[in-house]
Amino acid sequence: MVKLTKLIDDSTLVAPGAKSELRKRVTVADDILPEREAAEEATKENAKAIDALQDALWAERHRSLLVILQGIDTSGKDGTVRAVFNRCGPLGVSVTPFGRPSDEELAHDFLWRIHMAAPKKGVIGVFNRSQYEDVLVVKVRGLAPADVIEQRYDQINAFEKHLHDNGTRVLKFMLNISKDEQRERLQARLDDPQKNWKFNASDLEDRKLWDDYAKAYETVLDRCSTEHAPWRVVPADRKWQRNAIVSAVVRKALEDMAPVYPKPDWKASDFQIT
Ligand code: ADP
Repeated sequence: MVKLTKLIDDSTLVAPGAKSELRKRVTVADDILPEREAAEEATKENAKAIDALQDALWAERHRSLLVILQGIDTSGKDGTVRAVFNRCGPLGVSVTPFGRPSDEELAHDFLWRIHMAAPKKGVIGVFNRSQYEDVLVVKVRGLAPADVIEQRYDQINAFEKHLHDNGTRVLKFMLNISKDEQRERLQARLDDPQKNWKFNASDLEDRKLWDDYAKAYETVLDRCSTEHAPWRVVPADRKWQRNAIVSAVVRKALEDMAPVYPKPDWKASDFQIT
């Protein structure tokens, strides 16, 4: 398991300061996770371990974990949340999706709504989209002036360092799917009545901007993978590989944090329950 986790880290990590070379990165992980059954088993075990570690994190109430999920439409952000955190007690995990900002949110700086949703001590926070939308969709669709967007990379790095220095471990995953895989997933949303609700015609507009998004993602990975909050690019064409990879990294991060149950300052024999 330790060896596999190291393999996963080596192949998915964007080394801080290095070029991410997103276009050269794979969208399938058959070399490290060839067997579906074994990968699904690993995901289940990781989810169980994450639950146990989360319990101790909550009891300890000193630190928190923030898991950021980014990826183009249909990349599987929702499915990842379900697979990785389905064993956790709902009290200890807070999932926040970030859609188009409201008027109130737009009236503040772009990190305001993000900071408000950052996990409190003892909690695992999961962001489905994040502050990175403000240098992705906002850049690709020209929703803010270029010089304003340009400043945001450093501002995001400083913000994440602030979280890190205040006890929040930050993990960032870019779910990397191929354009062909996206076509299939969009088609399934049109064809499968149970998936129709997920179809959004604007996703087709974003698909036309595939190359622009890829470029914007590459800039994010090049400029915002830091020692305190590194990016990982997850091959995500196969959902079972994606789930195994993300769950392994989350589990390892929690194991490294090693939360401990607080020791009581009393003895059981001090009390008598009548
Ligand atoms: P999802 O596609 O994540 O399942 P939605 O259908 O609600 O959820 O889409 C959210 C939309 O909000 C996406 O198109 C995303 O690009 C957009 N969005 C998120 N953050 C911002 C932002 N800061 N500015 C503009 N649009 C944003």
